[in-house]
Amino acid sequence: MPSFRASVDRHLEGFLTDLRAFVEVESPTADKAACDRAGRHLAAWFREYVGAEIVQHPQERWGDHFEARIGGGRRRILLLGHFDTVWAIGTLGRMPCRIAGDRMTGPGCFDMKYGDLQALWALRLLGESGAARDKAFVFFGNSDEEVGSPTSRPIIERLARESECVLVLEPSVGVEGAVKLWRKGVGIYHLDIDGVASHAGADPEKGRSAILELAHQVVDLHGVTDPEQGTTVNVGIVRGGTRQNVVAAHAEAEIDLRVRTAAEGRRADERIRNRPTFVRGTSVRVRGGLNRPPMEETEASRRLYTLAKRIAAEEGFDLPASGTGGGSDGNFTAAVGVPTLDGLGAVGNGGHADHEHILLAPIAPRLAWFTRLLAEL
Ligand SMILES: [Zn+2]
Repeated sequence: MPSFRASVDRHLEGFLTDLRAFVEVESPTADKAACDRAGRHLAAWFREYVGAEIVQHPQERWGDHFEARIGGGRRRILLLGHFDTVWAIGTLGRMPCRIAGDRMTGPGCFDMKYGDLQALWALRLLGESGAARDKAFVFFGNSDEEVGSPTSRPIIERLARESECVLVLEPSVGVEGAVKLWRKGVGIYHLDIDGVASHAGADPEKGRSAILELAHQVVDLHGVTDPEQGTTVNVGIVRGGTRQNVVAAHAEAEIDLRVRTAAEGRRADERIRNRPTFVRGTSVRVRGGLNRPPMEETEASRRLYTLAKRIAAEEGFDLPASGTGGGSDGNFTAAVGVPTLDGLGAVGNGGHADHEHILLAPIAPRLAWFTRLLAEL
């Protein structure tokens, strides 16, 4: 398979112009009108550049999601993107989309508008070359990823089941652009503790302190952590009590769980739900559960990575593999048993932070590499 590098170099300026225009269509998840605008923008490019058939998935609360269907081959490949960002409308005022030195800045450029356009342009270059006619590609543009994909999840799981493999265009890891072979699963829990209020001076023995119980609970919950298995529990928020001279009648906590394997997810979830009580007369309730299952490395995802790494070497760069504690839609597709490779998008840093940026030098080699990956899969 010949390299696409020469045609990438010819198109690089057009690519950067599109990317900048797309970053400048601000699209915070909670702003439906703004997300719909960004989605229409992206879908129109898919129609214009690759003749995609667009299937809309209208939503009430969040922005509309869309599928872009390209090619009539028998082998179906799913490409996952999202065009919502964590940045409020007006962020462009203080974080303008700018190319300066070795980087491009702007809200959402790294997470993950670059990745959306890498998919679009790779399909465009692939189409022009006439390669990969045995395949059908579906690009899914998600509009509610940054709030945990509440409405897109079932669509993504169905599309994954209909596909041979899933390529997720979320940002890569580090300046070396590592792909993500695994992601931790995420659990979110809320703890409520009821005690008995009393006067801390006059009737201390009649009180049952919810705060004392909470203190025991925090220590016990952190004990669920198992660093060797990659399992962590973090009690991130605690609240409780009313005054310093009242034995606290109520306390609560919010808890974050991360796991690398489904088995650890079951173990930790059970431990977190089945709370012992330490202070007699208090009661403890737990709500919540695993929100995203872990994306586990499998033999099939390893094979995808080996192919991606070989092509990268032929395009002149090394492609390390990595993983992350953060979740993405790749967690859902891997959990339904479809080989998933994630972190195929931007090289840069600062997702969800003021210094969000992408590096310019890796764009051309990476776009050429990804195009060829689609051809050779
Ligand atoms: Zn993202």
